[in-house]
Amino acid sequence: MSKHSGSEHFRANKALGQHFLVSQKAIRTIAQAVPEGASAIEIGPGPGAITTSVLARVNHLTIIEKDDRFAEYWQAKTGEHPNLSVSHGDVMEVLTDVVAAGHPEWIVGNLPYNISGPLTALLASFALTGGMVLMYQREVGQRIVAEAGTKIYGGLSVLVRHFYTPKKLIVLPPGAFNPPPKVHSMVIQLLPHGKTPKCAFDDLQKTVRQGFAHRRKTIYNQFRGQLTQEDYLGVGIDPRKRPEQLDYDDWVRIALLLKQA
Ligand code: SAM
Repeated sequence: MSKHSGSEHFRANKALGQHFLVSQKAIRTIAQAVPEGASAIEIGPGPGAITTSVLARVNHLTIIEKDDRFAEYWQAKTGEHPNLSVSHGDVMEVLTDVVAAGHPEWIVGNLPYNISGPLTALLASFALTGGMVLMYQREVGQRIVAEAGTKIYGGLSVLVRHFYTPKKLIVLPPGAFNPPPKVHSMVIQLLPHGKTPKCAFDDLQKTVRQGFAHRRKTIYNQFRGQLTQEDYLGVGIDPRKRPEQLDYDDWVRIALLLKQA
């Protein structure tokens, strides 16, 4: 199958966020980020724009696909590709088990935009040894790479920094896809920073969820009744700050305070 033929043969299902990649530059950027001989997962292969290139490089690839048509299409290909496994299901439901069973080094995907927020929070919880290369709607990508102190910095910006350093790789116009989405897209790389986290991912996630619930409130008011002004000052955080002013290390300090409270 040529890289373009899939989008011609399969009608895109909007409910599953299907916009098939046709930009060879983007396909190369994503596939070549995965080292030869690695083990990887691809989320949402669809007709296979990225899959074919990744499959040619890796030792093993597990694809996770919800759409019956694509799951069956790839299942039928496992005979000719012994390094391919297919998980047919909703990535939000099967990803944790697929990661636990296969210990992949890398995760790649042109992600379905409609679930990119919760999916990224889930992805950020896995400490992979290789990393991730993921395609997002540009606005979501910008939020992920945003630094503390910016308006778009939020919960996802904090969570991805638990195990990874996020980096923007490329921005793509709508015409890089068929059918074209309404917005630009962005490929993000997450590479492990190698530092041992000082708190559990789940505790960080709970803290960030509550802490960013009302962006205009001071951090003291977000956790009123749980933490005192002295608690914050004791770990070097000004309790009058707003959530977007706290960097990853500050959020870890608050998560640890909440554990002790
Ligand atoms: N990888 C292909 C490409 O780049 O052309 C398709 C990308 S398309 C943006 C998203 C893919 O994710 C589709 O194949 C879609 O069926 C699949 N998908 C959507 N929601 C899903 C879910 N909850 N679990 C697993 N796959 C899903």
